[in-house]
Amino acid sequence: MTQQTPDQYRVFGNPIAQSKSPDIHYIFADKSQQNIDYQKQLVDPDDFSNAVSAFIHQGGKGANVTAPFKEQALAIADELTERASLAGAVNTLSFKEGKIFGDNTDGEGLVQDLIANNVTLKQSRILLLGAGGAARGVLLPLLAQAPHSIVIANRTVSKAATLCQHFSDIRLSASGYQDLEQQHFDVIINATSASLSGNLPPIPTSLLSQNVVCYDMVYGKDETPFLKWAKEHGANKVIDGLGMLVGQAAVSFEVWRGVTPEVQPVIDKLRASL
Ligand code: NDP
Repeated sequence: MTQQTPDQYRVFGNPIAQSKSPDIHYIFADKSQQNIDYQKQLVDPDDFSNAVSAFIHQGGKGANVTAPFKEQALAIADELTERASLAGAVNTLSFKEGKIFGDNTDGEGLVQDLIANNVTLKQSRILLLGAGGAARGVLLPLLAQAPHSIVIANRTVSKAATLCQHFSDIRLSASGYQDLEQQHFDVIINATSASLSGNLPPIPTSLLSQNVVCYDMVYGKDETPFLKWAKEHGANKVIDGLGMLVGQAAVSFEVWRGVTPEVQPVIDKLRASL
């Protein structure tokens, strides 16, 4: 029997060497008997749309897009999902019927990881730290879980306020860090990049108690400064962003292949190799 040519996928970014996406997608494909070829591609900052066109020309079926190209991916898409349009960024492209379809699976990846960790979102009071691309990308999927409220806290408060205006949802409000004192939250999600440089957003310690779930979108071999701080101040449940990374890949895989892959074995495998 002749082996069919695998369907081709890519992840485009700059830098790209660090990307775990090929590893993740190959495990998904292996477990679900899908025949795919998935490669990393380093793209020059001003060459994104040419790189995508060339890939489509050679028969590419879809691509993931990482920094710094998520906004450019939004711009080249012929059709967008609502979650991509509101996120203002695309991390998943599909090429079919002569068109480019853009989606954003980051927020769904976060929500699925929170649910997998038994975090209740319905009616919960959520504090979202940060108002950059990652925060914007998760707002619609978080709101879809029917939380009581989401407060967006950011160093530059005007950016948090702009996000609230953009989503125009009564459950959203903007805050500076100093105004969080005396408030109560059930879930705190760190969507700042502070952990990457070993820093902690200036959150009042009074917000923490053992029942407050703390989630950091950043992950690494060592516990992030935010999660370390949360544990030291009594939080029982702290979760890093590795599950979000695998979760967003799983939703992309589902968009492309129509198959829902199992995420936990992949999270475990990546965790062991950090
Ligand atoms: P952006 O550069 O768009 O935004 C950075 C945000 O972090 C801003 O709100 C900025 O505040 C804030 N910030 C940076 N340093 C500090 C600090 N020391 N104290 C307080 N706030 C700070 O980045 P993104 O939104 O794209 O990404 C944020 C993080 O999310 C990154 O670390 C990224 O790795 C992670 N991420 C993880 C994913 C996953 O799958 N696990 C997916 C996507 C992102 P200000 O506006 O005031 O400058």
